[in-house]
Amino acid sequence: MRGWPLTVNKNDMGVFVSDTNAGYDVVILGGGSGGYACALRAAQLDLSVAIVEKDKLGGTCLHYGCIPTKALLHAGEVADTARESEQFGVSTGDVTVDMTGVNKYKDATIAKMYKGLQGLIKAAKVDYIEGTGKLVGKNTVEVDGKQITGRNIVLATGSYSKSLPGLEVDGNKVITSEHALKLDHVPSSAVILGGGIIGVEFASAWRSMGADVTIVEALPRLLASEDTDSSKQVERAFRKRGISFKTGKPFESVKSTSDGVSVSIAGGDTIDAELLLVAVGRGPVTEGLGYDAQGIEMDRGFVLTNDYLQTNLPNVYAVGDIVPGIQLAHRGFGHGVLVAEHIAGLNPAPIDEDGIPRVTYCEPQVASVGLTEDKAKEKYGPDAVKTYNYNLAGNGKSNILKTQGFVKLVSVVDGPVVGLHMVGSNMGEQVGEAQLIYNWEAFPSDVAQLIHMHPTQNEALGEAHLALAGKPLHAHA
Ligand SMILES: Cc1cc2nc3c(=O)[nH]c(=O)nc-3n(C[C@H](O)[C@H](O)[C@H](O)COP(=O)(O)OP(=O)(O)OC[C@H]3O[C@@H](n4cnc5c(N)ncnc54)[C@H](O)[C@@H]3O)c2cc1C
Repeated sequence: MRGWPLTVNKNDMGVFVSDTNAGYDVVILGGGSGGYACALRAAQLDLSVAIVEKDKLGGTCLHYGCIPTKALLHAGEVADTARESEQFGVSTGDVTVDMTGVNKYKDATIAKMYKGLQGLIKAAKVDYIEGTGKLVGKNTVEVDGKQITGRNIVLATGSYSKSLPGLEVDGNKVITSEHALKLDHVPSSAVILGGGIIGVEFASAWRSMGADVTIVEALPRLLASEDTDSSKQVERAFRKRGISFKTGKPFESVKSTSDGVSVSIAGGDTIDAELLLVAVGRGPVTEGLGYDAQGIEMDRGFVLTNDYLQTNLPNVYAVGDIVPGIQLAHRGFGHGVLVAEHIAGLNPAPIDEDGIPRVTYCEPQVASVGLTEDKAKEKYGPDAVKTYNYNLAGNGKSNILKTQGFVKLVSVVDGPVVGLHMVGSNMGEQVGEAQLIYNWEAFPSDVAQLIHMHPTQNEALGEAHLALAGKPLHAHA
């Protein structure tokens, strides 16, 4: 049974809006991946739900993150395919990128999904409350002076693009990913500060569209949280693609010049470019929202939770990017679903963070799940871990696509596969099987007996497991 009868109106989005001050089973602060997933699952479980959002339902992922960046990357991929078509015997003529057209395609993709999501929330009869909310009690969120009360509160306020101390983002020459997604032209040149997922993806997309790109990264390698072999492979591919990068080089300062910026980095180098994209990570949106004032335990702005995402106030939960860990949309979805089920008393299983799949959608793509080789050796001991690296040179479909890369398996000796790392065009699509292997604790021999479709890139996963199980087919032992 739903908790309370509600008087609802529709706002201009056609989404239901409460005009009563009802008490709800669940009040969610923030309508991004974590928040809306929680709302949908809670409504399915017959809980009464209100969701408070100050900007747009769908949050960062839909409007400023996953979807627009992947549209940009896809447009870049189309440009690369056309530019390199002669190697497949196809002529296309000169390739030009028209950002008006690219933005139209990107925005139409977002608009379609936004409409669909609004429809889902509406159909679920979730009360959608527009406005900026603040936690003012352990059962109360205040929105523009109005108090919304709930048996449970879910904090889902997401994250923002960080900068470095003394580095001022002006939205013009020094920009964040939000600004970058609104550019009406392809920059002729760009310095990208940060060689993590967001920096590497923009470098890839802009290069595909013709920009001169330099990534500046303080850590010794690009995509430093991935397996070392994946970083090396991407660096090799980026060199070939003409993407410059300076690793182990902390940023020092930026000066505005007549036609752009001049960026100084450790070691005395300066790099001139049209703009500087700051992609140094994302901080939690928690300041001034009443969380600490209500006594919620925090660490450097992140909200601390137990395995069920409860804060130290047991009826107050937190989900998504404000919870320490890898900031990915599907982690937010998983958090939201888990919280709704916990509130409904369903006893859901806690989430294994290492079992959340990760993809960087640069060209070539990098996909992984589980532990890197280094982490596995730290956990199990160096002699208790074995690895196998299957080169995509032996994979038919990868040859057809003319892509290079590998599938690397990290396994416990006489035990399960605990890490899968893949690099190559389209290899992100293989992370689905990889996550089953990790999360279902498969041994190499379990996967080796499964017959994989030929010719697919998926087959490379099968081949790697055959080899690790001691019976390589299209590979050397
Ligand atoms: C450029 C970029 C690319 C990305 N690409 C990917 C990708 O390919 N795959 C992937 O999995 N992840 C990707 N991410 C990460 C993903 O977007 C986030 O992990 C995800 O959006 C987090 O969901 P969330 O619900 O925690 O926060 P958010 O999506 O940020 O949602 C939080 C919501 O809360 C609202 N809010 C905040 N404060 C208040 C308040 N006081 N009152 C009311 N509402 C409030 C905000 O307006 C926002 O809508 C990307 C991120 C960026 C920036």
